[in-house]
Amino acid sequence: MDEPIVIVGGGLAGYQSAKEIRRLDGQVPICLISSDGADFYSKPMLSNAFASGKTPDSLILKRASEMASEIGIEVIHERKVDAIHPESREISTGEGRMGYSKLVLALGADPIRLPVEGEMYSVNDLLDYRKFRQALAGKRRIAILGAGLIGCEFANDLLSAGFEVDVFDIASQPLGRLVPPECGEWIMKRMKGVGWHFNASVTRFEEGRVHLADGSSHAADVLLSAVGLVPRTKLALDAGLACGRGIRVNEFLQTSVGDIHAIGDCMEFEGMVLPFVMPIMHASKALASNILGKEMKLAFPPMPVVVKTPLAPTVVCPPKPGLDGAWHTEGGEEGMKSLFLGEEGKMLGFCLCGKAVSEKNALARTLG
Ligand SMILES: Cc1cc2nc3c(=O)[nH]c(=O)nc-3n(C[C@H](O)[C@H](O)[C@H](O)COP(=O)(O)OP(=O)(O)OC[C@H]3O[C@@H](n4cnc5c(N)ncnc54)[C@H](O)[C@@H]3O)c2cc1C
Repeated sequence: MDEPIVIVGGGLAGYQSAKEIRRLDGQVPICLISSDGADFYSKPMLSNAFASGKTPDSLILKRASEMASEIGIEVIHERKVDAIHPESREISTGEGRMGYSKLVLALGADPIRLPVEGEMYSVNDLLDYRKFRQALAGKRRIAILGAGLIGCEFANDLLSAGFEVDVFDIASQPLGRLVPPECGEWIMKRMKGVGWHFNASVTRFEEGRVHLADGSSHAADVLLSAVGLVPRTKLALDAGLACGRGIRVNEFLQTSVGDIHAIGDCMEFEGMVLPFVMPIMHASKALASNILGKEMKLAFPPMPVVVKTPLAPTVVCPPKPGLDGAWHTEGGEEGMKSLFLGEEGKMLGFCLCGKAVSEKNALARTLG
């Protein structure tokens, strides 16, 4: 390989891919290019930073330069890739064209922005978080749009830090896409300090009030949106790569152009986008192996996600989309155990709350 392996993206997916490639090959040139500062931080900690006493600065685990020397790669930061030219195996940046032997797209995702009038924050990277923390200074009442995983985690963190928190969602329960209603109910009870507003559509944030479609309004100083992510596909689409919700890859992590790979929040595999840490850890191993010419098929084991809501400890391992079945829930105040059972009682997913979270590993093994 004369040209380097080029990785676009300095998040977990980009760095983890670089590490795995380097682990298998100590010599091959690797260049990681990122539009941000490429400092390495733990993104999941953005939603529990208050609880863990972290500031935006102390969340940084390693500077880009440290990552470069530690892994043995070149890191170019603050440089956006504007185009991919698959026919000549080049990418374009503001500094001109650059060749690659293999290209890895680890571009991440953008927060979805609902058509809500007024100032609204969203947090999907360290820069976003810095702005959000600045906005919180001297404020008391925080409204969160979205009662999904990230919305619930921020609600827990901000409530524990002494803010007044209201959560709004058009769904009828927290974690509506991940857990059955009984578990949603349990979470709400445990996080009783939060003002929950369900079947509520926010239209406007103005003069210290969040306005809903039904005409009601609620006092708030800051509005945080946490309604999900959309994979960054534009670069790939412009280059003619096949995309669905994300950049489509096969079991070898190849996009529709064989020497271009994708991984992380921007990737779609078997119709799924998996914006979590564990899929990156698994996929990066297969990606590295395939890039270096040793075939390794991508296979995901069950990957339970720990919801970082210490007030209402919860673990979710939802069934794959499209699988038929129903939730079967048991438990009480101390905890809830809910299994998603398909035909002939086969377990296809689970949700554990409270003391039942101790069954996470055993259930994941059974599921596997
Ligand atoms: C608040 C929060 C809490 C979370 N908590 C958890 C959790 O508890 N457990 C869990 O499993 N997951 C969690 N996640 C999800 C997990 O953090 C992400 O799945 C993971 O970090 C995504 O990494 P990534 O590298 O794919 O994307 P990113 O970290 O977004 O990195 C994308 C990179 O690409 C760069 N880039 C994009 N476009 C270009 C371009 N054109 N040119 C150059 N560079 C470009 C960006 O600058 C960035 O460096 C959480 C996410 C958030 C936001």
